[in-house]
Amino acid sequence: MLLEVEDLCVEYLGTRPTRAVDHVSFSLSDGEFLGIVGESGCGKSTLLFGLAQLLSPPAQVTSGTVRFQGQDLLSLDERHLRQIRWRRISVVMQSAMNALNPVKSVGTQFSDAMRAHGERDRTAIRQRSEEVLRLVGIDPAHLHSYPHQLSGGMRQRVMIAMALLFSPELVLMDEPTSALDVVAQRSLMVQTKQLQRALGFAVVFVTHDMSLVSNFSDRLAVMYAGQMVEVGPTAETFAHPLHPYTQGLLEAFPSVHGPRVPLAGIAGAPPDLSQVPPGCPFHPRCPVRIGPVCQTVIPLRHRVGNSDVLCHLYRTESSSVA
Ligand code: SF4
Repeated sequence: MLLEVEDLCVEYLGTRPTRAVDHVSFSLSDGEFLGIVGESGCGKSTLLFGLAQLLSPPAQVTSGTVRFQGQDLLSLDERHLRQIRWRRISVVMQSAMNALNPVKSVGTQFSDAMRAHGERDRTAIRQRSEEVLRLVGIDPAHLHSYPHQLSGGMRQRVMIAMALLFSPELVLMDEPTSALDVVAQRSLMVQTKQLQRALGFAVVFVTHDMSLVSNFSDRLAVMYAGQMVEVGPTAETFAHPLHPYTQGLLEAFPSVHGPRVPLAGIAGAPPDLSQVPPGCPFHPRCPVRIGPVCQTVIPLRHRVGNSDVLCHLYRTESSSVA
């Protein structure tokens, strides 16, 4: 396994303590593409930042383990983490305009990143900078461009190129396409997938748009109220969603195939993470809740086929795995 996450909790400690990541467990193989989906505020970006150890106070990992190639990232000090970040685990942020420095050219930003990680050879820096720009389909002449001179799609590609400067084994992506139009979104997804196949890195891709990852991820993880309520192979999850929340999400967006059917949304709204309902956090919105057990008992993780699901509906027909 490339990445093993066990029982991870991340909390925002303060006057209203909030658990944004609630006992999350999953693993990732070499070269695998995992999509993490869920509504805004469900904790998916906090989870991503927790994996990269990039949380800022008051957010804090309060329990669990994150092992990268067997090494516990939570036990490393900042100096050792810096050796892993970017070289072996890199992050692509949501908004390239915020992540890129507006007063530095693309080439200078690439060079700064490489120098900060020990590369001193100017020729090597220039060659690698040109190489990664070509990888993402941008003319190396744009090493002289400033972020405002590039389109939104090009800026996101620059971010991906920057993330690939050191050929990492894992790239964490936090909604990298959210500011793009649908054509640019698809183009970026296709290119990311091609790069992932060609270079062999694994991807954890966070998005609120389930349809976006449907053709690109190997496995899909669905988050609700800080919990990972279902994880399974993407095709199987789309064909046979197990958790009532996943079923609701799938019924909430239109299919381009088959007859036209009215879209059914999910009634209600996600809970405030500082006031999560007892029992199953989805119970106030769940159309198939099963009486007091859903309102009072936190569901365990059950293995059903190739998927893991947190729901009492599956407690009698499968064994609990957590
Ligand atoms: Fe619905 Fe109960 Fe399953 Fe929660 S545990 S999703 S309330 S059936």
